[in-house]
Amino acid sequence: MKRIKQGDTVEVIRGNYQGVRGSVHRVLADKDQVIISGVNIIKRHTKPTGRVRTQAGIIEREAPLHISNVALVCPQCSQRSKVAFKVQPSGAKARVCKKCNETIE
Ligand SMILES: [Zn+2]
Repeated sequence: MKRIKQGDTVEVIRGNYQGVRGSVHRVLADKDQVIISGVNIIKRHTKPTGRVRTQAGIIEREAPLHISNVALVCPQCSQRSKVAFKVQPSGAKARVCKKCNETIE
């Protein structure tokens, strides 16, 4: 189970976008990276190559950030928080905010 899920609000804690909050657009689980809407925008200069039809020009898109460079923002207390895991009576694992001890869905 990952600490960060798609749809979570996270805060960037390292790099150029430090302190910026955004929602997780996609989790690249195999690389431990996340793509956050509006964060870490890179410009790609693309040229049409060969027979493959690619759009030429400058394309802006979000580059993935490593999961260790973002912190989850707790939806209950809206503080940036570490995540603990708790086994619920049903046996399922739940994420818990270490600041306010509320369960995070
Ligand atoms: Zn909290």
